[in-house]
This record gives sequence, C-alpha cells and structure tokens, in this order.
Amino acid sequence: MAEQIPLIQSDRQTVRLSDAILDERLRGTRFVSLTPKRVLNPPSATGMDYWSLNPYVGCEFGCSYCYARYTHRYVVERAHDAGKLTDAEFADYRGAHGWEAFERRIFVKEQVVGALDADLRRVPLGACIVIGTATDPYQPAERQFRLTRAVLQRLTRCEGLSIGIITKSPLIARDCDLLLKLQIRNDVQIHLSLITADATLARKLEARSPVPGARLRALKKLVDAGVNAGLIVAPVLPGITDDMEHLDALVAAAKAAGARFIHAGALRLYPAVRDRFMQVLGEHFPELIPRYEKAYAKQMGAPREYAQALARRVKKLQHKHRFTKNEGMIDRYKPSRVPTQGELELRGSLP
Ligand code: SF4
Repeated sequence: MAEQIPLIQSDRQTVRLSDAILDERLRGTRFVSLTPKRVLNPPSATGMDYWSLNPYVGCEFGCSYCYARYTHRYVVERAHDAGKLTDAEFADYRGAHGWEAFERRIFVKEQVVGALDADLRRVPLGACIVIGTATDPYQPAERQFRLTRAVLQRLTRCEGLSIGIITKSPLIARDCDLLLKLQIRNDVQIHLSLITADATLARKLEARSPVPGARLRALKKLVDAGVNAGLIVAPVLPGITDDMEHLDALVAAAKAAGARFIHAGALRLYPAVRDRFMQVLGEHFPELIPRYEKAYAKQMGAPREYAQALARRVKKLQHKHRFTKNEGMIDRYKPSRVPTQGELELRGSLP
C-alpha cells in the first residue's frame, strides 16, 4: 500500500519525503534527505567559540546521554508546526517516547558540499570549525552517504583553518588520506570519543556504538599515520565512570594507543537528555537516581565543585601517563556560556 507522503520544511526549503527517503534498514531505521541552504553554524547561533557542522541529524549509535536529541526534535517539530507533517507522521518522526526517532529517522544533508561552499565565504581566516558537535559524522549512515568524506575533500582546498572532528567511530580511519592532506595547510585535531574501556558497561550506556577496542585501534591507526589525534572522555558519568581506577584504565589505554592528548568533561543533563538517560540509569544503576536528581535539580551542568574535582583527577592522570602540557588538556570545545552551577552533592564520589 502506498505510504502517506509527508512534506518537511528543512532549514530553508520544502522537501517531499516521498522523494527524500533514501534508504530503510531492516531494523526500521529510515534515512531521509534534508537540504538546508546553510550547514555551518556560526558561534553567534550556538554560543560556542567555533563554527560547527553536522552532516546528519539523528544518530544510530543511540547513546543514552546524547544531548543532540533536541536537534532532531527541533527539525521534526518545525515541520509539524508548519503543517508539513500530520499528527500521525509527527508521531512517527518523534517516536513513542520522544527519543527513539533520533536513532531511527536519520536526516541526511545530501547537498552539504554545495551549502558548505557558500558558507565558507563567511568564515574568517584562522577560524575553528568543528565537525560532529551534535551528531556523529562517522555514524553508520556515513558508510553509505559519504558526506563527511565529501566535506573533508572540500576543506582540503582551504588553508589557515583550525579543524576539529569528534567521533566514536573507527570509520574515521577510512579518511586518513584526507586528514593528512588537510593538516598540511590547516590545524587538525581528531577527538576519538570514549567514556569507558569496559565494553560491557559501554553497551549498557550506548545502544549501538562501536566497541571501545575498535575505537582505540582507530586512534592508533590515525596517530601511526601521522594524524594529530587524541581521546575525548565525555561525558564522565558521576558514580559510574568517574572513579580513579576507571579513569586510570582509560587514560592508560589512550596512551597505549598513542593519543597525542586526552581531555574529559562531566555529564550535562540537558532536558532533552534527561528522559532517556534517567531511564537507562534506572535500569542499570537505580541506586544512583536520587543522587542525580538532587545534583542536577537546579542546573544542567555538573555541580561546580564536582567539575573542579574531576578536572584535578584528570590532570593527575595526564601527569601520571605523561601527557605533556601541549599534548594534554585541550579544552577548546567548551561552550562559552557555562551553565549555572550550585549543587555540590556529587562531590562525595571524588576525593
Ligand atoms: S555517537 Fe554522539 S551523536 Fe551519536 S548518539 Fe552517541 S553521543 Fe549522540
């Protein structure tokens, strides 16, 4: 039977989803074309210190703590508000609980290179562009659509930029050739993202992410090839991944993989994260629920004292594993608007 055909308003234009459905997996994941005219988000729009680019909206990796669910919700809600999605279609593109669709309805910015071409005219020399701030640029969709690779190819024509990429996927090693080319005339930093070296724990928290060992092997492959790459440990989860033994194992694994730097940050419990993460927390760590509820009751960021204690702990481990100052804590991808912090309850989990 023919499917009802919804229309969706992308950032700048209307797209018929009948033409826009690019592929569908057995698991039910659907890939939908999105054609925004602009793909580089300026610092003024995001409150971050850099320009950002995300070739996909939604991510099949399905991390419970992912803060990017709101971006997907925003795209879908705008389409619904504009009358481009019926209530039934809206329900499908939102999912029963508001978070599933992020993992199963992936928007693919097919015309990303054309839009990037135009956007680059606005970017000043020396600017920082970070790819993968909201969704993973090397998520499974990238194997098929190769948008991130196309973006890198375009960026190799630039010079004097500072380019960062954040990913959990070993697929980034596929683009080693381009990364090497890119860093000839630009400053490049690759941030392999890993919150734990424990594969069992990772699977509890991240539905379909690549196993830790695969990420570490990709990191080693990049570094061995000469790419400037390190590890980002974010978010550190209070009471779950923040103990010294746990972090020590992670920093040691990063060092063994040749990481040029390692940095870490505590969980931010944004409203869009809260529903999904607290559910997973309840499934696997129910005893922590009251502590999280109290600690994150008044603000989205971790309590200030906790964040400071965590930073001291990470610094100690960087020193222990000989991450030098230049290779070490690079906290450039921090939002310039820091959330208000006042709750100090989680400090008990740190010395
Ligand atoms: S890999 Fe990144 S974007 Fe994808 S679900 Fe996990 S945290 Fe979100």
